[in-house]
Amino acid sequence: MTTTTHTTRIGVVGGSIAGCAAALAAAQAVPDATVVVFERSAGELRDRGAGIGIQHERFAELVAAGLLDASLPATTNTAREWYAWGGEASGLGKLIWPQPFPFNAYNWGHLHRSLRGRLPSHVEYRGDARVVSASPTESGASVTLADGTVEHFDLLLGADGYRSVVREAMFPGVVPEFAGYLCWRGLSDFAELEGLPTDSFFTVGFPHGHLVAYPIPADDGRRQFNWVLYSMVPPELTGDLRTATSIPPGAASDGLLDFMDALLTRELPPLWAAALRKTALEDVFIQPIYDFEAPAYAKHRMLLLGDAGAVARPHAGAGAVKAMQDAATLLRLWPTATDLDDLATRYDAARRPAGHAVVALARRIGEAQVLHTPDWSAFDEATFVPWLTAQMELPDGTEIGGRRL
Ligand SMILES: Cc1cc2nc3c(=O)[nH]c(=O)nc-3n(C[C@H](O)[C@H](O)[C@H](O)COP(=O)(O)OP(=O)(O)OC[C@H]3O[C@@H](n4cnc5c(N)ncnc54)[C@H](O)[C@@H]3O)c2cc1C
Repeated sequence: MTTTTHTTRIGVVGGSIAGCAAALAAAQAVPDATVVVFERSAGELRDRGAGIGIQHERFAELVAAGLLDASLPATTNTAREWYAWGGEASGLGKLIWPQPFPFNAYNWGHLHRSLRGRLPSHVEYRGDARVVSASPTESGASVTLADGTVEHFDLLLGADGYRSVVREAMFPGVVPEFAGYLCWRGLSDFAELEGLPTDSFFTVGFPHGHLVAYPIPADDGRRQFNWVLYSMVPPELTGDLRTATSIPPGAASDGLLDFMDALLTRELPPLWAAALRKTALEDVFIQPIYDFEAPAYAKHRMLLLGDAGAVARPHAGAGAVKAMQDAATLLRLWPTATDLDDLATRYDAARRPAGHAVVALARRIGEAQVLHTPDWSAFDEATFVPWLTAQMELPDGTEIGGRRL
């Protein structure tokens, strides 16, 4: 890329997975650039996403790209066990299929800390810095902060999640679409759970929903039980879910928690219901499920990374991976781009299809495994495997866990 005497200024809005990965890519690609990350949260971002599953090959690619540490704590895993009501003596229900599953499980907090820890010291990570708006300028883009300050950048990277203000500046009014269902999430101490294998992901199917659960490494070296329970929307949930939102720990009403408890009793085999009840109710959080694809990943000198550009339903297990791949792609393209506009064009061409594919795959899985569920308990391995296989891969190679970098 042609050099100028002017020090390139790169702004990053959002300091989570995509934001740290983006700042790392920018700092590596242009070592003498000024890189500033604006993160609205004041403290350490902890336990945002609970558990993250990453497919072995995708993990290795991100290590090779310089974004992930090969030593990131993980729970190693051999299978994804699929269950439904039924079975004989086991309180776990009927095991339909122990699917070979090349994924390990990670703690979201460890992942974020590792990415942030890799930022060179000259990257300025500003916490408690909320960007209220962004706008294109003749030579780049500017951001306005909550305290009224305006800062200008040659390139602005929008890594500010599903309600991105950078995206709003690029495509006003283009917002995520509610998928029609939600998930309940929580963590408990794996050591307290009896009868569960320690080296598997688990899925338990029921009408209009399913449970996904797996052990993840805790801060103290123990294992936590990370669970995500997909269900229809409780009538108790008031508020407009068409506007992207979530209900953080401690904010779910008694009525909502009663709905969840009844769901556990009605739909889950007893050991699974008991496992979820080990989570303190004040720690349960709720995330409505959205689909989103930005019309483009770049416009003017503004680029989108991570959920700001595309939100896939979590069934594809690929959102955090996609966020880091977005940054890895930026890093790969930078040295051969003729200027920042060329970089933006080539980044959009490279990443828009990848975002589109993962959103499409996750939508298909959600339709099959939540909105239009089969009779899970009627499956045996011979009928289940073709049903599942038909959902899990797109012709372009996008599969659960994401797409090759
Ligand atoms: C139930 C569930 C399970 C999942 N499981 C997996 C999985 O197994 N594997 C996987 O790869 N992915 C998974 N994902 C997806 C993954 O969690 C997300 O795709 C990923 O965390 C998105 O990261 P991000 O940095 O783009 O967005 P976010 O994590 O949303 O970060 C956006 C950041 O921007 C900040 N911000 C927002 N607005 C502003 C502003 N105006 N000014 C300053 N800062 C701002 C926010 O505070 C936040 O820190 C899962 C998601 C869910 C919901």
